[in-house]
Amino acid sequence: MRKARHVAARRGCFFVVAGPSGSGKTTLLAEVRRRTPDLSYSPSYTCRALRPGETPSQNYHFISRTDFEQMIERDEFLEWAIYNGNYYGTSRHHVQSLLRQGKNVIKEIEVQGMKQLNKKRRAIGGELVSIFILPPSLTELKRRLNDRGTESQAKLRQRLKTAQAELKSVELFDYLLINRDQAQASEALARLISWHST
Ligand code: 5GP
Repeated sequence: MRKARHVAARRGCFFVVAGPSGSGKTTLLAEVRRRTPDLSYSPSYTCRALRPGETPSQNYHFISRTDFEQMIERDEFLEWAIYNGNYYGTSRHHVQSLLRQGKNVIKEIEVQGMKQLNKKRRAIGGELVSIFILPPSLTELKRRLNDRGTESQAKLRQRLKTAQAELKSVELFDYLLINRDQAQASEALARLISWHST
């Protein structure tokens, strides 16, 4: 009698990208998603206000503070954090159902959320791969934030302070990617994703 062979379905990888504002992580992520169409994206939930140019449910599901708190109570987040006074969180159901289907998922988070994910690596339901994006220097970070020209000097100083504190979180991540040049960095990120996906 032939023994039934059980081949476990491959679970997807959960790629988590973080880095201080000015590291270029959002642009990198957008570029990698463009180059890797089979990579699934999991929009975060947040209670911050919609910014000009943002489309609801694309990068974020915008919900009220009360709705967010109810989701916390129902344990619907894989991780969540308060950043600049607003809630941000990752849908447990969305990420886990994609991983179960063998899909690779990518999203952006900040470092408090990373700490929570590291504590529950085994319970995520797929391989967790975390990448921290760094600007080449603090001087370059300042220049990038200044070039945005969208913020007051006080806000800029606050962002720099937060960025400096975030730089200390490097050890929470599996990979460190220095973003000197957008094209090279997105190539490196795409390769890393493809290496983990095969
Ligand atoms: P922004 O309001 O500028 O879009 O995002 C602020 C910060 O929240 C960024 O560092 C971003 O990576 C982070 N963030 C976005 N979504 C999530 C999430 O689901 N969980 C956590 N922990 N951070 C998030």
